[in-house]
Amino acid sequence: MNFLLDKEHQAIFEKAKAYSLECLAPVALELESDPELLKAKMKEIAENGFYGLGIPTEMGGKGYNYLQMSLVYEGLAHGSGIMSFLLQLQNNINMEIATFYEGIDEEILKVVPDLACGNKTTAFALTESASGCDPSATEAYAELDGDVYRIQGTKDWITNAKDADYFNVMVKDGKDSKNMIMLFVPADTKGLRYLENRERMIGNGMFVGGLEFDNCVVPKANLLSADGFKEALKAIDVARVFTPAIAIGVAQHAVDSVSEYLGQRESFGKPILTNQGVQWQIAEMATKIEAARCLLYKTAAVMDSGEPVALTAAMNKLFATDVAMEVTVKCAQLFGAEGFMKDAPIGRAMAVAKMLQIVDGTSEIQKIVVGRGIARQYLPRR
Ligand SMILES: Cc1cc2nc3c(=O)[nH]c(=O)nc-3n(C[C@H](O)[C@H](O)[C@H](O)COP(=O)(O)OP(=O)(O)OC[C@H]3O[C@@H](n4cnc5c(N)ncnc54)[C@H](O)[C@@H]3O)c2cc1C
Repeated sequence: MNFLLDKEHQAIFEKAKAYSLECLAPVALELESDPELLKAKMKEIAENGFYGLGIPTEMGGKGYNYLQMSLVYEGLAHGSGIMSFLLQLQNNINMEIATFYEGIDEEILKVVPDLACGNKTTAFALTESASGCDPSATEAYAELDGDVYRIQGTKDWITNAKDADYFNVMVKDGKDSKNMIMLFVPADTKGLRYLENRERMIGNGMFVGGLEFDNCVVPKANLLSADGFKEALKAIDVARVFTPAIAIGVAQHAVDSVSEYLGQRESFGKPILTNQGVQWQIAEMATKIEAARCLLYKTAAVMDSGEPVALTAAMNKLFATDVAMEVTVKCAQLFGAEGFMKDAPIGRAMAVAKMLQIVDGTSEIQKIVVGRGIARQYLPRR
């Protein structure tokens, strides 16, 4: 087992980080309120080859493994955690459409080359207003009616909902069924409507809002999986490799920025960074970030090996996002009043860290997964 990145992996990370610091960081504030700029930047991200990462090369993608993908998202998060999040979400869905589902309809597979290069975009619709942490409370359903599914219900908090060309949608397999299925729904399908965008603490350049399905009809062949719950858990495990990568990039950038700032800023006649009390805080933060990075690389390696990953992925998500939250709050204090400015980057970094603690399973849900996994080994079988 090799803990060190080779030159190829380092280059993947450095390319993403350099692009992000040069092209995303300078407009990070504008990206908050300008959806057109955000779209233009997503196009630029595509031109720079960051789409289609997990899609096999023979299908038009980059054929990256999980470690390589993680390095891209960590690098991009240095300049914009939000853009890294939006990209990984789409790349995950695109990779899943291309490779996860057995016997998928040929017509659906025809969209993969467009997904691989970012010409078309996707979204994942699981959450509803009354079912966030608990997807078993899903109410939206689809009824099979001859050769079509008729979808009914609403979804909430769907990232990229307004701009997506295609949705992977989780619904119950019939109004009274407990089984969930996953359907592929093109955005222009009759009966599908976007609901209002919600203004949030961060990331307001991207659309995160609701979807309404009112007798929305898709061909039976658009069934991606008859075991939607299993597929959703698999998709969430994938996200639990990559949201930590974003958290690590955000946290590392916060420590880098505050160290640079305190190396220049003086109090009591010397740079603040010369104080041991400050250096110790930086040391503790840097150590936690490095520990999170090791867990990230291990999780990516487990994912690449095909071994069961749920427990490790939950630890990875819990640890990295909590570290990012802790680090960004501490860095805000170290920036002093400068960090308290309305548009200070460290304020946005704190908000991204909070977002990352919530999406793809909250920190509490990760503890449930890890705690139950461990308890199962020790509790008597009933
Ligand atoms: C920016 C953003 C983007 C998102 N994008 C998407 C998307 O693209 N697609 C999608 O489907 N969803 C998306 N979501 C939804 C996200 O997955 C949910 O918000 C998340 O799963 C939490 O659900 P909830 O907000 O309803 O929290 P709730 O379920 O209401 O939970 C509230 C609080 O209670 C805690 N809690 C709940 N149950 C337990 C328990 N058993 N034990 C202990 N604590 C518990 C939670 O951890 C949380 O702190 C997005 C959310 C955000 C904020």
